[in-house]
Amino acid sequence: MKPDAIIVGAGPAGLSAARVLALAGRRVLVLERNPEPGGLPRFAAHLGWGMLDFHRLWLGPRYARALVEAASAAEIRTHASVIALHPGGGLEVSLPGGRERFSAGAVLLAAGIREMPRAARLLPGTRPWGVISTGAFQEMVHAGGMRPFRRPVVLGTELVAFSALLTARHAGIRPAAMIEEADRITARRPGDWIARHVLGVPVFTGTRLLGIEGKQRVEAIRVAGPRGEQRIECDGIVLSGRFVPEAALARNGHLVVDPATQGPAIDNHFRCSDPAFFAAGNMLRAVEHSGAAALEGRTAGLAMLKALEGRLPAGNGIPVEAAGELRYVFPQRLLPGDALLRLQARSARAIRGMLRVMVDGRTVQSREIRVLPERRITLRLPPDLVRGAGSVRVELS
Ligand SMILES: Cc1cc2nc3c(=O)[nH]c(=O)nc-3n(C[C@H](O)[C@H](O)[C@H](O)COP(=O)(O)OP(=O)(O)OC[C@H]3O[C@@H](n4cnc5c(N)ncnc54)[C@H](O)[C@@H]3O)c2cc1C
Repeated sequence: MKPDAIIVGAGPAGLSAARVLALAGRRVLVLERNPEPGGLPRFAAHLGWGMLDFHRLWLGPRYARALVEAASAAEIRTHASVIALHPGGGLEVSLPGGRERFSAGAVLLAAGIREMPRAARLLPGTRPWGVISTGAFQEMVHAGGMRPFRRPVVLGTELVAFSALLTARHAGIRPAAMIEEADRITARRPGDWIARHVLGVPVFTGTRLLGIEGKQRVEAIRVAGPRGEQRIECDGIVLSGRFVPEAALARNGHLVVDPATQGPAIDNHFRCSDPAFFAAGNMLRAVEHSGAAALEGRTAGLAMLKALEGRLPAGNGIPVEAAGELRYVFPQRLLPGDALLRLQARSARAIRGMLRVMVDGRTVQSREIRVLPERRITLRLPPDLVRGAGSVRVELS
């Protein structure tokens, strides 16, 4: 089949886009490097999935199945790794039978994230076996049926770290502690209360890892916190946080990548610097919950439909920049039409401050906000506020 649209990655974002395109009668090809479609939720067999897009509370694998079923009008090819992008919607794909070239009028990049491995984190101490990412931990438990630890320590306290706690509980594993350098957990409260009182896991905030001990495998960690230095016996470390978009394809190719989000730069139609390519989901920035990724995929799919019909406005758009305490803002370019413009930003640190939108140096919107790092800040701009402008600046100070 010669597809109208190609989707790279069969996770919540990619499959949600595939669904809207296929239901509109377009020929859609989804390329997934794994043996099964469904993305990250396939390995997270705990509750917390499907609320925003299916209005159900499911286990991850059930949610993944629902996404695949919903996209059944699209052709999904697994064992298909996209290894290069070519201008104008071309793709180089590695398949079990060898390499093939594909192309389409609209291509969505929805390749998700990568977890930063131990080596890149510069963890102090010895290098025994037993230091793994949350994703690897979940895959071992759910796909491999393994129980790699009895008493691991979880490093990090954002949402994904709590996913690790739930996976541990599912496998009959009781983590020895959860460690956080900041003075409070990154996820919403009462996450720490649930960890302590429901899951029985001590949470140490304001606590820094000093070293890992162990020869063959992890035996303990040393930490420094409000109560001084202490040694925590454990048999493994589950690393959380420090995710980066799986954007090597974009970086090695011809697409503009935003150094702040580390994902492809897009306009408000989810379109990359080459207008044949679109991007959605966690590939845009690490890391959002699955419902947000799925909704982005759906919106990107609708934009791709418009593009295939020649109904998307062309042009470079108005550049948007982040300033002050903001780590990033996207979309990085705006082409105002009739719809409200939706922007997302994140702060570098926990802060209470003024969020201002400036158009050509003039403040057009401001509000006081209180934010935590790794929390989404959303902005909605009426298109008339920016139409014809030269630049938009979003500042938190
Ligand atoms: C450990 C962990 C636990 C989480 N727990 C929760 C939770 O409890 N609830 C929740 O709502 N969210 C949770 N999240 C977030 C959620 O998993 C993501 O928001 C969601 O999966 C993002 O969807 P996506 O489609 O952008 O990416 P993904 O789900 O990551 O899917 C991307 C797909 O692209 C494929 N791919 C990548 N590169 C290529 C390539 N070159 N060629 C072909 N295919 C490729 C990948 O194999 C993958 O299947 C968790 C995330 C992590 C890391």
